[in-house]
Amino acid sequence: MTNEKNILTDTFGRHHNYLRISLTEKCNLRCTYCMPESGVVLSPRHQIMNAKEVIEIASLFVKHGVTKIRLTGGEPLLRKDFSEIVEGLSKLPVELSMTTNAILVDRHIETLKTSSIKTINVSLDTLHPEKFNTITKRDQFKKAFDNIQLLLNENFNVKLNVVLLKDFNDDEIIDFIEFTKRQRIAVRFIEFMPFDGNRWDKSKLVSYQELLNQIEDYYLSSVIQLPNEENFTARNFKIESYKGDFGIISSVTNPFCDVCNRIRLTANGKLKNCLFSTSETDLLSSYREGKSIEPIIQAAILKKKAVRSGMTDLEDFENLTNHNNRSMITIGG
Ligand code: SAM
Ligand code: SF4
Repeated sequence: MTNEKNILTDTFGRHHNYLRISLTEKCNLRCTYCMPESGVVLSPRHQIMNAKEVIEIASLFVKHGVTKIRLTGGEPLLRKDFSEIVEGLSKLPVELSMTTNAILVDRHIETLKTSSIKTINVSLDTLHPEKFNTITKRDQFKKAFDNIQLLLNENFNVKLNVVLLKDFNDDEIIDFIEFTKRQRIAVRFIEFMPFDGNRWDKSKLVSYQELLNQIEDYYLSSVIQLPNEENFTARNFKIESYKGDFGIISSVTNPFCDVCNRIRLTANGKLKNCLFSTSETDLLSSYREGKSIEPIIQAAILKKKAVRSGMTDLEDFENLTNHNNRSMITIGG
């Protein structure tokens, strides 16, 4: 039974208008902070949402107020039916976007150009090919880099997602910001977050404050703070006269739960009301049985906790025994 309140509004009054849909649990890279070393147990193929189900379930969320959909994974461009999914979702009255490692962008560029996607987030953690091999375990730097250029040439708004790891890529922070000097690109530095099997350790974290100190020491008063976007996850800045800008996403040291508007649908059709939630709600099984899934969605949203799935303070969050979650690759970032 649904009550009269919008089914996407939780007990704290947060309205969830941003749906992130994971299209696959598979990936063509093996980023150490995302994919557990032992790999992941993949869901059987028949348990993964097909293109029609992705589009129909997404449409239902849109009917209840979702205005923004992001496709993610695993690697979303690995889906053989990617063009069918994007074509269907492009017809919905939503802002459609995608997060990708860009390796297959050239193969899908025509689909992307005819879609409603305007902004694409590309994960790139280093500007050095050999470090790229170390972090992703694949020799694909050139492909990723060339495809970022292709997206820029085709006038997509490109955001680079950079997960910062101490003593691995924290020496490249200024190089990444220098990349925004002539390129109309947004770099987003992301704090390393704990997930199943990613060997998270606080000592590898580069915190918001450390990062900002390093940037301000280098650029001094040329650092300009940009206004926060609505339901922001990144604090944004730019360097005076540079074409692009940069942001810091600090889910660990500076969470943004009070303005959270995000919900996640996994590739096997489970709703996660928080990135860190340990419980999930199966929508796909009920959907396939022809049941109404609205009451199920509403019940899941009403269970959402105020902060990081109940891990209120940093100590709770840093205690890995509290993280009985999926690995990031099967959630979808
Ligand atoms: N394969 C695509 C990609 O890499 O862009 C989409 C999926 S990936 C899981 C989505 C985002 O999650 C990427 O930007 C990635 O950097 C980020 N991510 C993965 N593991 C993370 C972690 N432990 N901490 C912070 N961000 C993480
Ligand atoms: Fe694959 Fe993206 Fe995870 Fe890297 S971050 S392993 S590219 S899903």
